[in-house]
Amino acid sequence: MVAKIEKSVCNGCGLCIYACGEFCLDFDAVRYKAHLAKPRDCIDCRHCAYACPRHAITFVIADVERFLRREGRKKEARQN
Ligand code: SF4
Ligand code: SF4
Repeated sequence: MVAKIEKSVCNGCGLCIYACGEFCLDFDAVRYKAHLAKPRDCIDCRHCAYACPRHAITFVIADVERFLRREGRKKEARQN
């Protein structure tokens, strides 16, 4: 899962950008909104969502193959 910012709800406060330890969020100065600039670096930690006062961040499966690979690795780890 990766973060998805609902643009119509985001007020551009930038708190999610500071909360993201993976530096995958960035600020779109033209639209005055946060956006997920590096989706492949998102680790689904959800710190951005906890920081968002507008509840503008949800989570979606952006890349099904990547999701399945990650789930497969989790399953392998549980079996070992
Ligand atoms: S914390 Fe929420 S409202 Fe603020 S910039 Fe991020 S998504 Fe937008
Ligand atoms: S879920 Fe974590 S890694 Fe992904 S954008 Fe939010 S804070 Fe960054």
